[in-house]
Amino acid sequence: MGVEVDTNDSIQSLLKQASDKLEQISDSAYFDAELLLAHSLGKNRTYLHTWPEKKLSLSEKNTFHSLIEKRLTDYPVAYLLGSKPFWTMDLIVTPDVLIPRPETELLVETALDKIQNMKSPRILDLGTGSGAIALAIASERSDALVTAVDCSAKALAVAKLNATEFGLTQQLTFIQSDWFNKVPLTQFDLIVSNPPYIDPEDSHLRENIRYEPQQALVADNHGMSDIEKIIQKSHPFLTKGGFLMLEHGFDQHDKTIAIFIDNNYQNEQSIADLNGNWRVTLASYNS
Ligand code: GLN
Repeated sequence: MGVEVDTNDSIQSLLKQASDKLEQISDSAYFDAELLLAHSLGKNRTYLHTWPEKKLSLSEKNTFHSLIEKRLTDYPVAYLLGSKPFWTMDLIVTPDVLIPRPETELLVETALDKIQNMKSPRILDLGTGSGAIALAIASERSDALVTAVDCSAKALAVAKLNATEFGLTQQLTFIQSDWFNKVPLTQFDLIVSNPPYIDPEDSHLRENIRYEPQQALVADNHGMSDIEKIIQKSHPFLTKGGFLMLEHGFDQHDKTIAIFIDNNYQNEQSIADLNGNWRVTLASYNS
């Protein structure tokens, strides 16, 4: 009788089984399975490709299965891994913070472009969450001083961990504040924010964002209430000619520009992402 080889416990076969299950809930089922398996083994994805026939131990298999079960409830991969790549960093994330989105890198690029010719720019990041925007800017500009604000103490704790992890604490100041409420009256060359902007009525409030902090995602008045508040309150915190730069939804740039104009800003400009969606709007304040 030939030797029967049970391949069910191999990396390759576990990945296939898990990704077949994840097809129901994820557009990136195989990739998700790879990330979660690598995490269960304490290795990277290259290891999985190098050792497809390797068998898992019982405890590794159990860890992997419980991650897959949780993922099947739509729980985000980033929260299962405890991290999410953004810009050049792999940021620590917990369910207390919004998971940084790749499209927010456009805000970082636009910010870096605007401060290109400024020496030691002072920057304010409102609603910093994991610290993604603040840390990305600080990491590219060692002369920049960045104040990162969030109303959630738990979110700020995550942002501080990230600042320490990436050696950027010297450049960062953290303030727990509901927008400008607790920010001392100082002037910034640039204020950036990725505020909540999803309409509470929006079908976008789909399954896969239900585990994220809703206060970081959803805003009244069709998603415009925080954008409006920030635009109205920024003046005293901007240098003459300073910029306010906001991320918003694909259909919110007209409304955002109108609010800028109502509040006497100038040089309004919207920027589209790689999908051709208006994603960032900025304006300067000159008087
Ligand atoms: N871009 C995020 C999403 O569509 C929303 C981020 C936000 O509200 N600031 O899920």
